[in-house]
Amino acid sequence: MTGSAVRVGLGFDVHPTEVGRVLYLGGVRIDDAPGLAGHSDGDVVCHALADAILGGAGLGDLGAHFPDTDARWRGASSLSILEAIREMIRGRGARLVNVDATLIAEAPPVGPHVAAMKENLGRALGVEPGRISVKATTNERLGAIGREEGIAAMAVALMEVSDP
Ligand SMILES: [Zn+2]
Repeated sequence: MTGSAVRVGLGFDVHPTEVGRVLYLGGVRIDDAPGLAGHSDGDVVCHALADAILGGAGLGDLGAHFPDTDARWRGASSLSILEAIREMIRGRGARLVNVDATLIAEAPPVGPHVAAMKENLGRALGVEPGRISVKATTNERLGAIGREEGIAAMAVALMEVSDP
């Protein structure tokens, strides 16, 4: 045991919109908007957070641990991916200090759902919602995201890692 250190991780994710799919962001079902294509539920907030947390813990990337070819995650709630990651970082002796995510979406408005997202994410990750921040911005109508062809999210995670 040589003590502990803080580590930061960065995550990014984007999924194309797909009419007929249900939209989930931060584990919250948002009706009256097209969903996101993807192997799981396409929840970009969960995926960006997962990648940031794995990165901070030095555990590689999301695709390596939860590949598209794994039937276990087909149509799965991405909150269950975060639950699995919670156990992985515990096994690594890492602790989540805080996470901050930014959603980049032209539509729908996500502000009204942020509190519920923080609660879902905190429950999945085993931390109080005060350690979770979710923000949202638009892409100012520029590019594919500006044309509502997809939704993206980026995230950072600060971790305390024992025996780095
Ligand atoms: Zn994803």
